[in-house]
Amino acid sequence: MNILQSPKVFQQTMMSLRQKGKSIGFVPTLGALHEGHLSLVRKARRENDVVAVSIFVNPLQFGPKEDFKKYPRPLKRDKELLKKEKVDYIFHPSAKAMFPQGFNTAVQVGAIRKSPLQNSLCAKSRPGHFQGVATGVIKLLNLAQPENVYFGAKDFQQALMIEKMIRDVNLAIRFHRCPTVRETDGLAMSSRNSYLSADQRRRAQAISRVLFWLQDQASRPAARARKLASLKQLARRKLIPFVTHIDYLDIVDLETLEPLKKIQRMMLAVVACYVGKTRLIDNVIIHT
Ligand code: AMP
Repeated sequence: MNILQSPKVFQQTMMSLRQKGKSIGFVPTLGALHEGHLSLVRKARRENDVVAVSIFVNPLQFGPKEDFKKYPRPLKRDKELLKKEKVDYIFHPSAKAMFPQGFNTAVQVGAIRKSPLQNSLCAKSRPGHFQGVATGVIKLLNLAQPENVYFGAKDFQQALMIEKMIRDVNLAIRFHRCPTVRETDGLAMSSRNSYLSADQRRRAQAISRVLFWLQDQASRPAARARKLASLKQLARRKLIPFVTHIDYLDIVDLETLEPLKKIQRMMLAVVACYVGKTRLIDNVIIHT
C-alpha cells in the first residue's frame, strides 16, 4: 500500500495507471474510518483493478463554529484498516497542498437555478458546506482520475449533489451510491458517533428507530388515506424526548429532496438532530 501526500504525484501516479488500462476505484473520506467507509472500500476493491482512498479533512466544508479542529484523525489506525482491505493507494494531502495560498475557485452545484437539493435540509443549516464539499471533491476527482467513485447513502444529500455535479460537468466517472451501514442497534455509523457519551449514545438510537417507524407506518395501506404531515408530527414527538434539538425531520422526494405532502411510491425520510453538541444525520428510503 502506497501513501501519497503530494497532489501532483498522486495525479501522475493515477494517470499512468489509467494509461496502462487499469480501472481505478476511488473512495473519498475524511478518515476516522468505520465499517461504513470500509463497505465502500470493499465494493471498490471488487469492481476495480486499483483502489485509492483519500483521507482529507477538507477545511472548506466546515463552518466557523463547526468541529474542524476536533474532528478525529486516527491516521495510524486508518492505515491499518485500509491495508487489511488491500487498498493500493492512500492519498493524504495537507490542507495547504490542496488549497495553497491564492487558491480562488469554488464549485457551487445549484448556482444557476435554486432547488431544494441545494437549499434545503443540510444546505440550509450548514451554509457553505456543500460548496466546500463540491470544491474539495471535484479537485480530488481530477487528481484520482477514477473510473468509479463510491459515496454512502448515509449522506444522501451530499451523494445526490456530487452525482449531479459529475453529470453537469460531464466528468467521465461512474458514480455509486452505497447503502448505509448501521450499528447493531440501528444507529448509522459515523465518525462523529465517537463524540457521544454513553448516555448520548443510548439516546441516539432513537434517531434510526423513529426513521424505521416512519418507514413502517408510511408503507402501510392505511397510511394512504393519511396526510404525511400528521405522520411527521408523530415522528417528531417520538424523537423529541431523546435528542437535544431537531434540526429537521421530513419526508422528501428521493430525487429532488422536495418536502412531500402526499404519499408517493418512493420517498426519503430524513433527519438531522443534535444529541448534546453532536449533530447527527440519517435517512431511510420508503417504498410504498
Ligand atoms: P466521511 O468520511 O464522513 O466524509 O464519509 C466518507 C464516505 O463514506 C461518504 O461517501 C459517506 O457517505 C460514506 N459513509 C459515511 N458513513 C457511512 C455509513 N454509515 N454507511 C455507508 N457509507 C457511509
